[in-house]
Amino acid sequence: MQFIDLAAQQVHMKEALDRRIQTVLAHGRYIMGPEVIELEGALAQFCGAKHAVTCANGTDALEMALAALEVGSGDAVFVPSFTFASTAEVVPGTGAVPYFVDVSPTTFNIDIASLERTMASAKRDGLRPAAVIPVDLFGLPADYDAISDLASTQGMSVIADAAQSFGASYKERSSGTLGDLTTSSFFPAKPLGCYGDGGVIFTDSDDWADLIRSFRVHGKGTEKYDNVRLGRNSRLDTVQAAILLEKLAHFPDEIDARQRVADIYSDALGESVHVPQVPNECRSVWAQYTLRMQSRDQRDRVRDRLKYNGIPTEVYYPKPLHQQGAFHGNPGDPEGLAVSEQLSETVLALPMHPYLSREDQQRVIDALKSSLS
Ligand SMILES: *Cc1c(COP(=O)(O)O)cnc(C)c1O
Repeated sequence: MQFIDLAAQQVHMKEALDRRIQTVLAHGRYIMGPEVIELEGALAQFCGAKHAVTCANGTDALEMALAALEVGSGDAVFVPSFTFASTAEVVPGTGAVPYFVDVSPTTFNIDIASLERTMASAKRDGLRPAAVIPVDLFGLPADYDAISDLASTQGMSVIADAAQSFGASYKERSSGTLGDLTTSSFFPAKPLGCYGDGGVIFTDSDDWADLIRSFRVHGKGTEKYDNVRLGRNSRLDTVQAAILLEKLAHFPDEIDARQRVADIYSDALGESVHVPQVPNECRSVWAQYTLRMQSRDQRDRVRDRLKYNGIPTEVYYPKPLHQQGAFHGNPGDPEGLAVSEQLSETVLALPMHPYLSREDQQRVIDALKSSLS
């Protein structure tokens, strides 16, 4: 059994993927070819954003979003501590300071009271609250109405880190439209993944979209050898765009299948362990199906039992960012980050992908239940 089974997915679309790749090999436009342009249109349409600008990966997408906002020295950027390193890693290079915010124990997403405390603390430090980067952890959108209200009263921008949530929704609005800028990733294991690295920035702003289209090609002006600003090389390969076009066609069915898998887990396990809670106004895309166990001991014991039974599990994330060496001494919520710390000790993610068979899923459920008794 695989934790995320990309081979099982490939069986469903192998011929069509081969045809798409052959088309790229035939036309030979490997950089910014027609598939890239077609994909950007399809992604924007899928979520209802005005612009989708693809790039090399989800980390670059965050960096370019910060650059578009001109975040820099004297600024504070607020990030959850319970997330993947990218969310915070992109901040120091701009000259701004990342401030770590705690998360909710039920949604695992940024906690508003903690955000307020942390913003006040940054202001006492003499910094301007420039941006907040909520993460839609495990595919569940953060509470964007509360975040945007707070951000707008403080003149702060919202960059949604939707690396795990493309395909999800919040109050009937799709992931991709929930921040001033939204970034996502096509890393193979994400809900919509390619066969390499890839990323995208969504925005309704024509100016930011133009700026990011320039950043990704060395700060180009009207043509390639006219460098009007400092940029970088961050384009999505044409062959990856071709693969994503095919995968996007299957994505709505896969989202439904992920929801079915999640429902079966929750029905079977809801009485024995803390299963994920999805607020009524949200639809998760189930990048991960993550349980919260009672203690680190219980988590590690269950994990060992499952492994012994041939069932792969993962711990996302074993260490909150404020405890990582890379962020040693960085500021955060003045009251501490207890929830992030507790979650890193107790979470356990189960196999989750759209092609998980009913039989395999039952094996996971049975093994988990017996490991609890
Ligand atoms: C995967 C991920 C990223 C980074 O995406 P890459 O394409 O791997 O650079 C950023 N934020 C979160 C929350 C992620 O899960």
